[in-house]
Amino acid sequence: MLKLFNTLSKKIEKFQPIKDKRVSIYSCGPTVYDYVHIGNLRTYLFNDILRRVLIYDGYKVKQVMNITDVGHLTDDADSGVDKLEKGAEREKKTVWDVAKFYEKEFLNDIRALNILMPDKLPHPTDHIKQQIKIIETLVKINFAYDAKEAVYFDVSKFPDYTKLSGQKLKDKKQAARTEVVKDLSKKNPADFALWFKLTGKFADHSMHWPSPWGEGFPGWHIECSAMSTEYLGQPFDIHTGGVDLIMPHHSNEIAQSQSASGKPLANYWLHGEHLLIKSGKPGHLDGEPRRMAKSENNFIRLKDIVDKGFSPLAFRYLVLGAHYQTKLNFSWESLRAAQNSLDHLLDLISELKGSPGKFMCADYAKAFDREINNNLDTARALSLTWRLLKKPNPDKLKISTIKKFDKVFGLDLLKGALIRKKIPNKIKELAKTRERLRKQKEFGKADDARAELEKLGYEINDTPEGPVVKKK
Ligand SMILES: [Zn+2]
Repeated sequence: MLKLFNTLSKKIEKFQPIKDKRVSIYSCGPTVYDYVHIGNLRTYLFNDILRRVLIYDGYKVKQVMNITDVGHLTDDADSGVDKLEKGAEREKKTVWDVAKFYEKEFLNDIRALNILMPDKLPHPTDHIKQQIKIIETLVKINFAYDAKEAVYFDVSKFPDYTKLSGQKLKDKKQAARTEVVKDLSKKNPADFALWFKLTGKFADHSMHWPSPWGEGFPGWHIECSAMSTEYLGQPFDIHTGGVDLIMPHHSNEIAQSQSASGKPLANYWLHGEHLLIKSGKPGHLDGEPRRMAKSENNFIRLKDIVDKGFSPLAFRYLVLGAHYQTKLNFSWESLRAAQNSLDHLLDLISELKGSPGKFMCADYAKAFDREINNNLDTARALSLTWRLLKKPNPDKLKISTIKKFDKVFGLDLLKGALIRKKIPNKIKELAKTRERLRKQKEFGKADDARAELEKLGYEINDTPEGPVVKKK
């Protein structure tokens, strides 16, 4: 029985799909005006683990992820600029070219991390009609109003607005927003835009469509309400995203969808925690780890990881090692440790003889089931895998069990082990000799063995579990 933490109830709940053995998931995707960083990628990895666990449990999953190409402003209070326009100006390209380029880059990162491709990747610019329809309903029932610069949703009409976030409307964040929005003709500071008009700072906005309120473009939140229900119906089973989306994005999605239709948008709301990293800003170097952001000089892409000689799957391993609801501090040392552990795991698997069959180490398979179904506890499932490898079970059973586990991990464990196997015996022997010399405290001779390995094109890394040798 799968149990998941539902942000809506703030409790761990038993998962019960709407349709037997079928699950519909909507995951908020990227705004394609820039590269995604590894903090964003942690959220997509969490989506992927959820999906893989559901498939493991025998569900047929349909997952939709939006690719935002219009209307996402640089500020949550509707006072910023459209991120796509910002990207276009920076790169002297059209917004369409910018969107196309970064979508391709995003999909490459997803593939490199073994994230299963969503079944649909819709764009808001292809769903203007559906968005206008919801806004029309909201205006008709008086939950939205036509103001000077935009059509706004009136949050005072929706008493459950703060249910998902648990925040009070008059908290500090909202108070700060009052300052920002005083130039806008909103009734309440928390009201949010559904449709922007081509006026004021948006007079020259390059993307625009006709609507009952004049030429303009949709706000960010309405796209998810329109596209999720277009492909999954309403309500659907699970809505996912990063914790930063709880307020305002997901709260706004719920407000507009539930008000327009009288039905809940989704039954389960799951949120992945942040990846933190020390800021690279002068004066911040020794400070608390922070969220990744361009302005903090701590923006790391998957490409930066690969350029430093790590495999994308080492990052996947690092992420799997922490529960999705805990903050994870990223450092190059922790990534190095993850790479070494992954390599060592592959080495242990490569020493197993035989090929996978039908039978498994039943007690381990059962324990694995329990861990992953306990709110996706991949960290405990990983340590279980290490214990399995150290246990005196027949190799064939171990291989079959690991093959099954990897359907959730997505670490290419058997394929990776085959590649590790190709390291010549002579090299493996030399590495063992060096380790023996080190233990005998013959450090000079151990260093000679390392130099010899390096001359032959291999490097050796010492890990808590033992040394790992690999091609340079
Ligand atoms: Zn969204």
